[in-house]
Amino acid sequence: MSTDPAIAARIRENLARVNNNIAAANARSGRSDNPITLVGVTKYVEPPIARLLVEAGVSNLGESRPQELWRKNEALADLNISWHLIGHLQRNKVRRSLECSPLIHSVDNLRLLEEINRESASRGNVTDVLLEINISGDAAKHGLLPNDVDSLFPSITKLDHVQVVGLMAMSGLESDRDQTRREFASLRDLSERLRPKCSHNIAMTELSMGMSDDYEIAIEEGATIVRIGSALFEGVNP
Ligand SMILES: *Cc1c(COP(=O)(O)O)cnc(C)c1O
Repeated sequence: MSTDPAIAARIRENLARVNNNIAAANARSGRSDNPITLVGVTKYVEPPIARLLVEAGVSNLGESRPQELWRKNEALADLNISWHLIGHLQRNKVRRSLECSPLIHSVDNLRLLEEINRESASRGNVTDVLLEINISGDAAKHGLLPNDVDSLFPSITKLDHVQVVGLMAMSGLESDRDQTRREFASLRDLSERLRPKCSHNIAMTELSMGMSDDYEIAIEEGATIVRIGSALFEGVNP
């Protein structure tokens, strides 16, 4: 399918701006030797537009709905993409989702983790996941409460086909910038508190936090992965 070259140019411009902002925020954080992974969230656009983002240099793509992950994975199968599943995952969608080998950002209960373990075992591999944490206290948000996480560790340790690589969170819908910063700092604190309790399949390496409106704050507070959609597709009609 052909796409307007102006759209490709716009995406390249947006990406350059986002990459500059990421580098500047990383420098301010004093950790600029730590690379930040940019996940381009493609949920707003069709596969031909998502393809332009990959061609512009983004190899990590994120989808929040499993069916959309499957569809885009198929449509873009000729490209070398690392997929990220960033939205809520039901157990009955685990098997099909694992075919896309995603990093799953949104694990917030043990039964889901057990299902991922079972399906990964039958595929003969290990699936990387992040534990989603509800840092804002919004009742409508998914995620484990910060105080409930370490009590899961003994059970997780028995699941040989999952590897926890860190934590993921979203800022509160109602949060202003100071509150957002406190929420992100609280996720980083939690990962530091959990670090001594890690085991062979639990590590606190990654912090997935920050979206179009708050990724610079997230990086200043220690994000290693940012998930950005609208800022990359500004000016691009879906
Ligand atoms: C949609 C979405 C994003 C990207 O949001 P933007 O504000 O468009 O950057 C990031 N993370 C999650 C979990 C999402 O659902």
